Amino acid sequence: MLESYIALARSEKGVSFLGRLGTYRYLDMDVTITEALAACDQIDNLLQSEKGTLPSFFVDPS
Ligand SMILES: Cc1cc2nc3c(=O)[nH]c(=O)nc-3n(C[C@H](O)[C@H](O)[C@H](O)COP(=O)(O)OP(=O)(O)OC[C@H]3O[C@@H](n4cnc5c(N)ncnc54)[C@H](O)[C@@H]3O)c2cc1C
Repeated sequence: MLESYIALARSEKGVSFLGRLGTYRYLDMDVTITEALAACDQIDNLLQSEKGTLPSFFVDPS
């Protein structure tokens, strides 16, 4: 069931899923914050490059 939801999320355009609920993983706060900061850096880089599209996931949830 999780795999089907991941596939559905990947097919969605213009939406990125992150965090504990968004990636359906057990996460502690330190990991959540580290991943969120890394996602912010990646978003910054993609927006500056003007041709980057945001990924559905910044961390592979499978
Ligand atoms: C009972 C419990 C105890 C825990 N104890 C610890 C601990 O001791 N140490 C530790 O490191 N971690 C602990 N954790 C884990 C830690 O709380 C989570 O890993 C962390 O909070 C996950 O962060 P997140 O941003 O993914 O999700 P969340 O903290 O759940 O943040 C999601 C946010 O999005 C908001 N939101 C949801 N839907 C929408 C929407 N449609 N529009 C706008 N906003 C929305 C919610 O209101 C919420 O503010 C605990 C978790 C639980 C449940």
